[in-house]
Amino acid sequence: MSNYVEMWKNLNMDLETHDALCQVLPTAFGDVYLSQENRPEGMGFWDFVVSEIHGIRPSELIEAQKNGQKVFGTFCVYVPDEVVIAANGIVTGLCGGSQFWVPGGEKVLPKGTCPLIKASVGARLDRTCPFFRIADMYVGETTCDGKKKAWEILGQDVPMHIMDLPQMKRDKDILKWADEIKEFAAVVEKVTGNEITVEALNEAIHTINEKRRALARVYEARKAAKLPISGKDALLMMQIAFFDDPKRCAQMCNNLADELEKRIADGVSVFKEGTKRILVSGTPMAIPNWKLHHIIETSGGAVVCEEMCTGTRYFEHEVAEDLPTLEAQYMALAQRYMKNNCACFTPNSGRIDDILRLCKEYNVDGVIDVNLKFCSTYDIEGYTVEKALKEAGIPVLGIETDYTDADAEQLRTRVEAFIEMLG
Ligand code: SF4
Ligand code: SF4
Repeated sequence: MSNYVEMWKNLNMDLETHDALCQVLPTAFGDVYLSQENRPEGMGFWDFVVSEIHGIRPSELIEAQKNGQKVFGTFCVYVPDEVVIAANGIVTGLCGGSQFWVPGGEKVLPKGTCPLIKASVGARLDRTCPFFRIADMYVGETTCDGKKKAWEILGQDVPMHIMDLPQMKRDKDILKWADEIKEFAAVVEKVTGNEITVEALNEAIHTINEKRRALARVYEARKAAKLPISGKDALLMMQIAFFDDPKRCAQMCNNLADELEKRIADGVSVFKEGTKRILVSGTPMAIPNWKLHHIIETSGGAVVCEEMCTGTRYFEHEVAEDLPTLEAQYMALAQRYMKNNCACFTPNSGRIDDILRLCKEYNVDGVIDVNLKFCSTYDIEGYTVEKALKEAGIPVLGIETDYTDADAEQLRTRVEAFIEMLG
């Protein structure tokens, strides 16, 4: 990635610290990803993106900015990309998934904050991630308490717009979210200088629906008895979907889905027969958080589905297309986004229904419900998740972890024991 040094300098990045990150990533990726056998050829695209992770997409974004486009950094699957795209803006996901950024976050946040928030704040304040430097505006949301307060700190360093997300799903909450989306659209129009028209928003809705459909096709292939792709590879595809161009993302996912469908027809599997099928539920896994998937898939299990924001919550449900007015389109966006079931909501029984449904659809042998340390909403909801799964006769293992490797061996022991028990 050395070709990008000038670009990183222009972004006022801390090159020395950033070099340290660039040095560890290829080894980590090689150990976790390139060591897998018989991977689909289509994964070559995502391997390439990782090899140029702080170079290729950031340079595309900078080129777009030179042509007058604006980049919006987001942290949550409730923020509607469609609105930004309709104003010819670009969305890039900014959730931090590496321990590398956590100490930077701990300089200003309590240690007892979830690692995703600490890493996101650290990546910005330590100037070690180009995406955090490039974004013209950050878009936060009122989901968990940690994020809400972190926005106040990030907002001292970068322009921020906060969307006020309701915490319940009554009709009046959905109306409120539609209104909030309308207000967000006005902000986006101001920042980009472009008006959002019915036609442009409809096209953007179609683009993001196409991306959802392509991601869903890959997930569909994971329902097969013979698994044509590992959970780790599917997770990588999903993580990169958050910051890639949506049309290219859809095209690459569709190419991969074509290959996976052929593999299914040919009876090709990346796991040996009898490998236990695991659904992972819980808090999101931002790139490069591959820890749990790697442990599961080197302990006799195969991850067949992620009930998380870096998983089904990102692509399930489409937004109604071809509506005649902006008001109707904002409402359709609100209705779709409020179908996401995050633990920040109460009650959140829809999430339990999702998990039980996904267990059937993906024919799982067991569930691992994972919680990022200090995420109290998912932690507390873990009780209800485990109770519902036990009542349904589905084995479940609840775990809590962070971005460090300190607990990796202990986790491996627990995961191995769980998978052995499934047998
Ligand atoms: S877990 Fe909740 S707050 Fe976090 S990205 Fe998902 S929806 Fe947003
Ligand atoms: S994992 Fe939990 S604490 Fe962390 S950002 Fe998401 S909702 Fe907030």
